[in-house]
Amino acid sequence: MKRILITGAAGFLGSHLCDRFIAEGYHVIGMDNLITGDLKNIEHLFPLENFEFCHHDVTKFVHVPGKLDYILHFASPASPIDYLKIPIQTLKVGSLGTHNLLGLARVKNARILIASTSEVYGDPLVHPQTEEYYGNVNTIGPRGVYDEAKRFQESITMAYHTYHGLETRIVRIFNTYGPRMRLNDGRVVPAFMGQALRGEDLTVFGDGLQTRSFCFVDDQVEGIYRLLLSDYHLPVNIGNPHEITIKDFAEEIIKLTGTEQKIIYKDLPINDPLQRQPDISKAKEILDWEPQVDRAEGMRKTFDYFKSLSPEELAKKEHRSFE
Ligand code: UDP
Repeated sequence: MKRILITGAAGFLGSHLCDRFIAEGYHVIGMDNLITGDLKNIEHLFPLENFEFCHHDVTKFVHVPGKLDYILHFASPASPIDYLKIPIQTLKVGSLGTHNLLGLARVKNARILIASTSEVYGDPLVHPQTEEYYGNVNTIGPRGVYDEAKRFQESITMAYHTYHGLETRIVRIFNTYGPRMRLNDGRVVPAFMGQALRGEDLTVFGDGLQTRSFCFVDDQVEGIYRLLLSDYHLPVNIGNPHEITIKDFAEEIIKLTGTEQKIIYKDLPINDPLQRQPDISKAKEILDWEPQVDRAEGMRKTFDYFKSLSPEELAKKEHRSFE
């Protein structure tokens, strides 16, 4: 039986990846320090023999007994509110944490896939973003701690590939949404869903003409799964190229949720990228992958998930304060 370590296992993407690899017959070791993750996302896996959980912070030396075939490094805060509240941890998990996991991959002779992000492109001057684009990042802006940690992560991963011959994979993840996201963590999908559920107006930042392209989590997981098992070691964009302005997106959510709410406008956060759309030619060609779930279907599933939660569960989904 193949053994895989998944860091950030109690997070949104990490927990869906745990599900997928369990379903594929792997033995999954989920690791998380639970700063932003939530055990609720993986509690259904605890009774399984093929699953074990390890409460650990990967910025400290990582020890995993036994053999390991694969490592997926998905531990990281991933929302603008988190970067502001825990900037140092954000930097450390992408840099020190990645270094520890690359070291672990070396001793275990395991293949490692690291979760990078469209944020490496910053506020992009090339549109749509291809993997060849170097990016436009403000190193000292509020997002710099995340963006630069992820850029360093890519560099050190490539260095381990080149100098140690390690089997590495790099996925650049574009905006992804779906069940198990936290509510009100600053990101737009949970923000709008939470506001619709509470009957509040939807907050659009800036003029709402900035664009994003939203990928449903099942599609994202499929792309990551295929990339891990491929023989391609350079970065690959995984995301949904269907682009929309945030204002139009807010209107879609109002229609979808049947709320009477209006849109209210708030200040645009600093260094908020003006546009974002993945060029997924590489993923299509190398992985024979493209998204299958359109936004209407994906958002419906996501909203249905939030609606299915009890008030207590919903309250727990709210973003926790670190103070
Ligand atoms: N946004 C918004 N209202 C909100 C939350 C976010 O208009 O309540 C905007 C945000 O300014 C950005 C876009 O939605 O332009 C996507 O934000 P998110 O934080 O989800 O992702 P990222 O900016 O990292 O792509």
